[in-house]
Order: sequence, then C-alpha cells, then structure tokens
Amino acid sequence: MIEQARVRFETLKAGGMLPSPQGVALAVLELTQKHDANIQSLTHLVQTDPAMSGRILRYANAVHGGSLRHIASLPHAIVFLGLFRVRQIALGFSLIDHYRSGACAAFDYLGYWTASLATGITAQQVSAQAQCPPDESFTCGLLSGIGRLALATAFPNEYGGILRENLPELALRDAETSNFGLDHATLSAELLQDWGLPEIFYQAVRYHELPTEAPFGAGSRVQTLTSALHFSAKVGSLLNLDAAQRWERVPSLYHAAAQIGLEDHQVPPLVESVVGQWQDWGRELHLPTRDFSDINLLLGMPPDPTQDGDLSALVVLPMRVALITRDANRLSSLAETLDAMGLMVELATDRDSAMHLLESNRIDLMMVELPDSGDSAVKTLRELRAREGGRQTYCIAVIPPEAEAGVAKLMLAGASDYLLMNYSEAALLARLNSAQRVVTLQGAVRAERESVIRSSGEWARSNRRLLQEAHTDPLTKLHNRRYGLDRFAQEWSFSAHSDTPLSCLMLDIDHFKQVNDRHGHEIGDMVLSQVAQVIERSCRKDDVVFRYGGEEFCVVGPNTALVDAIQLGERIVRGIRAGRFGEDEKRFPVTVSIGVATRTQADSDQEMLIARADRALYAAKSGGRDRVVAARGDADA
Ligand code: GH3
Ligand code: MG
Ligand code: MG
Repeated sequence: MIEQARVRFETLKAGGMLPSPQGVALAVLELTQKHDANIQSLTHLVQTDPAMSGRILRYANAVHGGSLRHIASLPHAIVFLGLFRVRQIALGFSLIDHYRSGACAAFDYLGYWTASLATGITAQQVSAQAQCPPDESFTCGLLSGIGRLALATAFPNEYGGILRENLPELALRDAETSNFGLDHATLSAELLQDWGLPEIFYQAVRYHELPTEAPFGAGSRVQTLTSALHFSAKVGSLLNLDAAQRWERVPSLYHAAAQIGLEDHQVPPLVESVVGQWQDWGRELHLPTRDFSDINLLLGMPPDPTQDGDLSALVVLPMRVALITRDANRLSSLAETLDAMGLMVELATDRDSAMHLLESNRIDLMMVELPDSGDSAVKTLRELRAREGGRQTYCIAVIPPEAEAGVAKLMLAGASDYLLMNYSEAALLARLNSAQRVVTLQGAVRAERESVIRSSGEWARSNRRLLQEAHTDPLTKLHNRRYGLDRFAQEWSFSAHSDTPLSCLMLDIDHFKQVNDRHGHEIGDMVLSQVAQVIERSCRKDDVVFRYGGEEFCVVGPNTALVDAIQLGERIVRGIRAGRFGEDEKRFPVTVSIGVATRTQADSDQEMLIARADRALYAAKSGGRDRVVAARGDADA
C-alpha cells in the first residue's frame, strides 16, 4: 500500500503535476542541498528577491521575539536562522505566492492558505509543548495540508467533483485513493519528505488529521508533534469558519488542546496571540484574514437558536422573564398570566432598568413591548442585543396587530419571535413553549460545553504529567536516554544542515561501584542525583543533558566548538571535585571522567560522535580519572 503510494507519487512528480517551489526559492532549495553551501552565497541569492529578503528579515525578528537586539540586516537574519530554516521559510512563502489560485473551482485556494497560515503560526506557538524548534514547526504547520492543494493542482476537475460531495475525512481519503492512487495525507507527507523536512515532521503531518490512527508510541516526540499539529490545524480551520459553524467545533478544540497539556484557560490567550500574528502575516502575504474583536466570544459564543430535536420531554425549570415596557399597565395582564403560569417576572419600565436586568445575567427570556415596527423599534432591539454581550437571550417582541406587517424587520434586528398585543391564550402558550425549548437547548449546550472544558483541564494536567514522565529519568530528574538521544538526532540534523559545530560530552562517575559497596545502594542513588545536579548547573540553557544509563551522563552542546566543550567539561570536573556528596555529616568526595568529541565531516551520524566521545572517556579513565580528554583528531575539526 505504502509502496504503491510511493510509486504513484514519483509518477505525479515526474509528470510535473505537483506544486513545487519556483524561482529564487527553488534556487535556495538547490543551493542548500549542496555540500559547500554557505551563508554568503545564500545571502547573495536571497538578495536578488526583495520580497523574500523582506519576509526573511521579518520572520527572523518574529521568532527572535525581541528578547535581543532587533535584527536589521539580511545577512544577520540568515546567520540567526541558519541555512536549514531559511530554506524552509523560502519554500513556504514561495508556495503561497505561486499557488494562491488555480484551476479547481471547488477548491478555495486563498481560504486554504489563510487557514494554513494560522495553522503554522499556532504550531510555532505550541512548539514548546511539542518539544520541537519553533521554525520547523511553522513550516510543518503551514504545509500540513499541502496534499489537498496538490490534488487540486494535479486533478482540478476530478478533485473538484469529489470536494463538492463534502465527504467526511475517511470517506474523502477513500475516494482520493481510488481515484488518484493516494490520499491527501499521504501526499502531504511525501511532498515534505521530498522537500527535505526531517522524518518526524513528515510522519507527524501524515497522521495529524486522525491522530488516533498514528502508530507512534505514547509520549514519543513524533506523537506529541502529531497532537500539536492536530490542535494547530483545528485553530487554523476555526479561524476560517463563520460563527454558526464555528461553535460546534469549539469543544473539540479544547479536547485537542488538552492532549498537548494545554489547559482551558491557556487556550484563549494563545488563540488571541495567534490571531494577531495571523493578521499581520496575512497583510504581508496578501491573504484575507477575519477580524475577531473578542476572542472569548469567538471561543465561547452559543449557537443560534435551533428548533431541531424534540426536547419537550425534558423537565423545564420555570423561566425568568424580563418584561420590558414603557407603560406597566399596558402589560399588566400579561404579567399576571405569566405569574399564574409559574414564571418569574421582572418588570422594567425604563431603559436603564432594562439594561440592568439584561446585564444581570438572570434572565432566560425577554418580552419587549414595541409601539410599532419602525426605525426606533429596530433601534431599541439592537441596543438590547448589543447590551447582553452575545448571550442571545430569547426575545419576544410584543407588538400591536397593525405592526405585524413589518415584523420581518424586527426579527432581523434581533427578535426571536413576536406576540400580538391582543394575544389569545393559545398563542401565548405556543410562544412560551417554543421559547422554553430554545432556552433549554441553549442551557444544555452551554452546560455540556462547560463540562467538556472543565474535564479537559484535568485531562490536560494529567497529559502534561505523563509527557513529563515519559521524558524524565525518575531518579535524577534529568532527561532520560530515549529523549536525550532523540534530541541528539535532531541537533545532529540541524548542525549538519546548517554547518554549525556540535559537541558531545560523555561523563562517567569514577569508582562508583565502591560508593555502593561502602555506603550502600541508597546513598549511591543519592550521589547520582547530586552529581546530576552539579552537571546540569554547569551547563547552558541550550545544552541537552541526559542520563545515558547507570552512572553515565551525556551532554550535547549545540553550536559548541571543541575548545568550548572542553572548557565545559573542565568546569564540570572542577565542580564535582569541589563538592561533597552523600548524606549530612557523612559526606565524601566524588570525581568524574569526561570524554569530549566534536562533529567532523568524517562522522556520518550522532552514533559515531558518541562512539568517539566514549573512546575519549576511556582514555580519561586510563589516564588516571578526574579529568577531561578530547577525542583524537578533533583539534583540527
Ligand atoms: P570506573 O571509574 O571505571 O567508572 O569505575 P566504576 O566503579 O564507576 O565502574 P563500573 O562500571 O565497574 O561500575 C558502575 C557501578 O554503578 C555498578 C553499578 O552497580 C552502579 N550503578 C549503576 N546504576 C546505578 C543506580 O541507579 N544506582 C546505584 N546506586 N548504583 C548504580
Ligand atoms: Mg560506567
Ligand atoms: Mg564509573
């Protein structure tokens, strides 16, 4: 199956049917694949495209976060981002520029990019949760749905026909596979792989729409990234929907957030910050974005009243009714009837008290007496609606019979229903009955939403704990071996692509067997944690420190040349030598030995770097322990 898709992909690609970067972006892609690519030649190339230069500068400053000085020059931006990231950004922007319209009439090209942009920005924002570098997350989110665009590009007519059927996700995939030989998710992954994105990214893209189908281990980085993309894509599509469709997607957004450890209260500020950047970038890239004046309303607005479903079987609590009239006498008989029916009636005879009632949030239903259906009546209704802040309180306009002809205007202005002043008892009952049904439905939806969101908070916390545990060595609280090696592989790939230095330190406690033999295993455990703390404190924020196994630790230093790595090793050796370990007054000295190696052209992967650092460690042991030894040959690296 996978093989078939692969062959199909190669055929489509060879036929020139798939989206591909153009112009300078293509040249950037080709240049950065060459072995001798350097910052200078890349800068020259990018400078030939002023739009791209501007965007790269802007992007560098955005991820840079303003914590340091503003990045003002292109070369500086490129150095800051590195070859690998510049190449990804060029790829993304070039695709947006060249595929903003096309032949598939049923495919909304601009809407696709607008949602993708929001997905990319969200992915970048949650990259801390997903434990991956923000820049790669952006590209990964931006291009996570590229297979759809690709199918629309390659098969505009046939794919248009399928899209018009509005199929659910799985049926859509089946239709795609039977028509084109592969589905959009597979195609997205194939394209990203083809464009040189690291494996965990294209694997996560393949599964992010249906994360439960993903074959990845719970807590693995690729699974976390998949969940992060799942959430990001939900934000992307939510921002592109109308209010009515948006509402029903909101609970599942909170669910997806909880899966990556985001609690309910963290979601609105996150979305708010995404929206801000989305609008900025939308302007820059000429993509249409919506305005959302109030994020809480965006994430919390109840649905429009609907008459679907038979809720008459539900027990309805007596409703609280606001009677709004300028003349209490005129509605006094209505008030009495409602009261007799067991409803709680509150009367408001002037504007201020009406507004006060509505703002108090104690009202299920308002009945507003209006003299006619003219402009001032419309204005009154609009004002009431504006004042109740999106709560959509059910509103019955009470009007004189001669105003019935203009009732449509009142409904448009916010009335849910109307009642003639000379109402019959049957008419009143019918009106109240449908009001009750809607109020109950709104209440049920609201309650369900609140319970989903409340439980998602607890779920988020436990997910976060599980994630944390999956990455942590329980004894020393350092990262564990699995996580450490995973990060190592990633740093390796970044370092190899951007040609920046990468160092590895292997540490082993000296004569640790004797510690156990003399003081017992428990004290041995304590010493392990204490040593781990000293190591961690000696390292920088960007270093990856993990327990390699037993009494051995490993430090990966991104952007760290050999001299700096040796210095770091010396600092650790001195720190341990100066400390006293164990319990209270029975503390004793401990020493460590360290082997250091730095990536050279001869190393094909991180395993080779580890092996060389390990050999240097062995040399440190046989040279007398309590020292740092650098791998042979690295000095000229
Ligand atoms: P060297 O200086 O050559 O490294 O000597 P060493 O005694 O440290 O080396 P060796 O590899 O012979 O012994 C390592 C010891 O570390 C043996 C093992 O019992 C102990 N050890 C490994 N993991 C743990 C642990 O989690 N807790 C405790 N208390 N001891 C451990
Ligand atoms: Mg050992
Ligand atoms: Mg040892």
